[in-house]
Amino acid sequence: MVKRTLIIGAGGVGNVVAFKCAMNSDTFGEITLASRTISKCEEIAKNVKEKVGITIGVASVDADDTNEVIKLIEKTKADIVINVALPYQDLTIMDACIATKTHYLDTANYEHPDTAKFEYKEQWAKDSAFREANAMALLGSGFDPGATNVFCAYAQKHYFDEIHTIDILDCNAGDHGYPFATNFNPEINLREVSAKGRYWENGEWIETKPMEIMQVWDYPEVGKRDSYLLYHEEMESLVKHIKGLKRIRFFMTFSQSYLTHMRCLENVGMLGIKEVEHKGMKIVPIEFLKTLLPDPASLGPRTKGKTNIGIVAEGIKDGKKRKIYIYQVKDHEECYAEVLSQGVSYTTGVPAMIGAKLILDGVWSGAGVWNIEQFDPDPFMELLNTQGLPWQVKEL
Ligand code: NDP
Repeated sequence: MVKRTLIIGAGGVGNVVAFKCAMNSDTFGEITLASRTISKCEEIAKNVKEKVGITIGVASVDADDTNEVIKLIEKTKADIVINVALPYQDLTIMDACIATKTHYLDTANYEHPDTAKFEYKEQWAKDSAFREANAMALLGSGFDPGATNVFCAYAQKHYFDEIHTIDILDCNAGDHGYPFATNFNPEINLREVSAKGRYWENGEWIETKPMEIMQVWDYPEVGKRDSYLLYHEEMESLVKHIKGLKRIRFFMTFSQSYLTHMRCLENVGMLGIKEVEHKGMKIVPIEFLKTLLPDPASLGPRTKGKTNIGIVAEGIKDGKKRKIYIYQVKDHEECYAEVLSQGVSYTTGVPAMIGAKLILDGVWSGAGVWNIEQFDPDPFMELLNTQGLPWQVKEL
């Protein structure tokens, strides 16, 4: 029977998901791309038709409204919803999937619009509702979270009896030529990097000041880069699912210029998430900043250089110490040539498509709410290799 796929969100990531689903139309069948602004869906659909030769449907939806999403799922008869809107819509879209007994997938965990804190609590709480609906919710199927979680599961399955430490290392060495821009949604990005850092050691979360801990890491095909410790959501599920783990940290590279701009914006209050009064109007500073900054989707044609994201795991195999590095390198210009997007959207959108493909093909199954590292990593790792994100493993 022909499957039906509903993608919600037509930003940088939605563009890649639409392209990649169309390129795998044997699995995804009839595809609909829906978002708040329908013109963005139409533009993507036009490009997919031109480059891939597949027609995808478009729709407008306000995904903050569960009933609107329910109606759209019913209208499209979707078997799965791929949520690549913003983290603020996770819960409403999950509720619509529960009501319509439809599979769900996202790439970022729920964040409340009024508090810059993201955690899985609310999404995990929907486990029994998904079980009752006999539907599956796969959380965090982007790159990080997503592929990095699968790298950890793969390391656990093939390289270790016990993993003791994991460092997730995220480097974007892309250059878009602007003095300052973010590679994905500026609001989500700036909220993430201006927050306090946090890592997990011996069963406890340890908080750091923003950007307090830095290490220089030599990224293959990129070179040495300053890498700063941040809190990142995949750690919350990985501490539950990786055997024997004693410490997990997350590092992301930032240039001095990016950090200087960010500090300056923060110091003048432009990263604020609370409403302020401006000439009789109420505005949220970070939302206004988003209006000023280049749209991440427009960075594609200008971005040169590579991304390199991976994990370093240390532990024990057959009584001996072992340390391995699993990483993926992607060239921004290569991404643009294939799907008209830069590398950050590409490396997020491809794993989203892969997770959805494994669900629709019945390779990964099970009712309830799942994090991606809970499934067999092998089919996902194979698809990364064939769908544009080949990876490497190195013994260190
Ligand atoms: P964009 O801001 O480019 O796109 C978001 C899209 O969602 C826009 O089309 C926007 O519509 C739409 N949208 C927002 N609110 C609603 C709503 N209420 N109803 C319907 N549509 C809505 O973001 P990205 O494409 O860069 O990122 C998409 C997601 O991917 C985010 O959740 C982000 O956190 C996640 N991500 C995950 C990564 C990972 O590795 N796991 C890495 C990078 C991103 P409009 O155009 O009208 O504003």
